[in-house]
Amino acid sequence: MTTGILGGGQLARMIALAGLPLAQKFIILDPSADAGAIPLGSHLQGDYDDMTLLQQLADKADVVTYEFENVPALAASYLAEHTCIYPPAKALEASQDRLVEKNFFHNLGIATAPFAHVDKLEDLQQAMHHIGYPAILKSRRFGYDGKGQFRILDESQLAEAWEAMQGVPSIVEGFVSFQREISIIAARSVSGETAFYPLSENIHRGGILRVTHCCHDDPMQQQAEAYANKLLEALDYVGVVALELFEVNGELLANEFAPRVHNSGHWTIEGAETSQFENHIRAILDLPLGATTACGFSAMVNFIGASAPDDDILSIENCHLHLYDKAPRKGRKVAHATIRSDDKALFEQSLTKLIALADQYDDS
Ligand code: AMP
Repeated sequence: MTTGILGGGQLARMIALAGLPLAQKFIILDPSADAGAIPLGSHLQGDYDDMTLLQQLADKADVVTYEFENVPALAASYLAEHTCIYPPAKALEASQDRLVEKNFFHNLGIATAPFAHVDKLEDLQQAMHHIGYPAILKSRRFGYDGKGQFRILDESQLAEAWEAMQGVPSIVEGFVSFQREISIIAARSVSGETAFYPLSENIHRGGILRVTHCCHDDPMQQQAEAYANKLLEALDYVGVVALELFEVNGELLANEFAPRVHNSGHWTIEGAETSQFENHIRAILDLPLGATTACGFSAMVNFIGASAPDDDILSIENCHLHLYDKAPRKGRKVAHATIRSDDKALFEQSLTKLIALADQYDDS
């Protein structure tokens, strides 16, 4: 079988690495000549809306998946007509636009922060009467890692905040004073089999994920699974999904979902019986899903901007390094490492060292 992937970055690289033992071949569409996944498959070099390349992809791939949610609608609908594309196009539509996404959550009974659409300054002024301060103004589309966002502390900042959006359709959300940010990684196969990973607890700085812990017997697990399950059923979903949540006084509010494998699930490579990447492949090929049980204690740390020397990382006990083969650049995720151990004290010791090392090279 041949799997096509839109995007050839680190997520595609880890999907391909997980698919090779299952004798999968990969064909990767990406504009860049040296994207990280290219050594693991054949390459179609060009834009995601290049119809000739999409046609080649549809001809050669039995199934197509993607590593980013901003797949052009035209590409998704072409691929849906000419081959199988998973996760389904419906999941892209619901996740590409923050307003559509929040309304989608709302209709499913999944709680969120209060929100309102903003197309002009007056909408923002009006909305703030019921949203309350502080709040966050976000562009509806193409936002990631906290980009395209403005934190509003009081009324005096409204004009500045709207100006920062440069006129693009936006959404304003109440600022959530959460105790924890968590995410749940879930999978659903073509046949409808589902699997849920233990919760991921996420630490962000500057809108970028820094550290994820795998949680054990978390009191919020059941509620998160119920939310994720609603999402999977409503979208007739196939593949791995990540649902990002805020925990506030024992309640969960949904922030957003990503219809793909996710950075907060990277710990599953060493820390779970079956990784999110392998389960994504299994799900889209309609194979039985693998167990999602945690294997001991694990946590993942991102390297942002630049990685530390390999020797320094790998000399930390129980540490596994994943380099993305990307040139260092400010604010760019270039690698991650995971600590996994059955011994809690050892795990914590190693994790402290790894976080200190990542902080030392972090340029953001
Ligand atoms: P996003 O791009 O929506 O995932 O936002 C990036 C990060 O900004 C999140 O992981 C949170 O740390 C923070 N954030 C986003 N929206 C809110 C909100 N409504 N209240 C509090 N923090 C938020």
